[in-house]
Amino acid sequence: MVEYRCVNCKKIITLDELGSKAKCPYCSSKILIKLRPKVVKLVKAR
Ligand SMILES: [Zn+2]
Repeated sequence: MVEYRCVNCKKIITLDELGSKAKCPYCSSKILIKLRPKVVKLVKAR
């Protein structure tokens, strides 16, 4: 699942919510940051 964060209202928007429009459905901002997939890197400190 690709997710975006609106830089204006800080909401997380999924690609489904975004649809074909490249703007925030909440505040109509066009500045969205693409978030990385939820991969958590665990680095073990030894
Ligand atoms: Zn927004």
